[in-house]
Amino acid sequence: MRLQNKVAIITGAASGMGKAEALRFASEGAKVIVADLNMEGAEAVVAEIKENNGEALAVKVNVTEQADLENMVKAAMDNYGQIDIVINNAGIFDKYTNSLETTEQQWDLIFDINMKAIYKTTNLVLPNMIERGEGTIVNIASIAGLVAQMGGAAYTASKHAVVGYTKHIAAVYGSKGIKINAIAPGTIRTPLTADMLKTRPTNKIPLDRFGNDYEVADLAVFLASDESKFMNGAVVPIDGGYTI
Ligand code: NAD
Repeated sequence: MRLQNKVAIITGAASGMGKAEALRFASEGAKVIVADLNMEGAEAVVAEIKENNGEALAVKVNVTEQADLENMVKAAMDNYGQIDIVINNAGIFDKYTNSLETTEQQWDLIFDINMKAIYKTTNLVLPNMIERGEGTIVNIASIAGLVAQMGGAAYTASKHAVVGYTKHIAAVYGSKGIKINAIAPGTIRTPLTADMLKTRPTNKIPLDRFGNDYEVADLAVFLASDESKFMNGAVVPIDGGYTI
């Protein structure tokens, strides 16, 4: 049990990687706040965790709404008394829309969900983590935060911003006991990529396959646990070697 008695908030936990992380964290002993817009999906994840004798709570959250984020943090504190881990996972894709085709509305939505929500959530949990002198945050970026051609203009820019923000928090708050790292997944099989993967070749990936949600969840457990306690501000690719 690598996360025994830890309380973890996971956003976007009703589907894909967030769901895999919620299930995996609970199996490692964490009490999980399964936060998502999709309440039905979140409830189903909680039910699965409880069937396996784990502990979890579903909270309806639109990560662009400050009031929802405050409610999510309050739910964690009221039910479990502390927040040890936050996995900022909720995100949307821009379907490779280049800059000239991106409307300002699309740009704002992608930035609001993929980046601004991480800043807002981090600011809500940081004061208490600093007070306790400990806390771990894992941001789900993307290899689109490291290289181009893995998304359109807004997605690529938003994920690069997540990488920069992760490093900023690591640099400024590391000395206060905060450990923050980012995961940069390559192409992972989830509902988000299901359609794209029907036609996408794997030959540019040295391992010659796409990744699985549970493989990213394994990395998230490592980054959330004490096993990675000297890692801070790292951006870890999990991409079968695509970016080497
Ligand atoms: P997914 O679509 O399967 O799951 C995303 C979840 O986020 C859904 O449950 C959705 O309801 C939730 N969500 C979306 N907008 C939300 C909002 N405003 N408020 C609350 N919840 C919201 O996607 P996934 O593939 O599991 O992606 C998870 C993260 O990983 C995203 O940040 C994505 O950018 C990133 N990522 C995915 C891949 C990939 O290949 N799948 C690669 C790199 C990075």
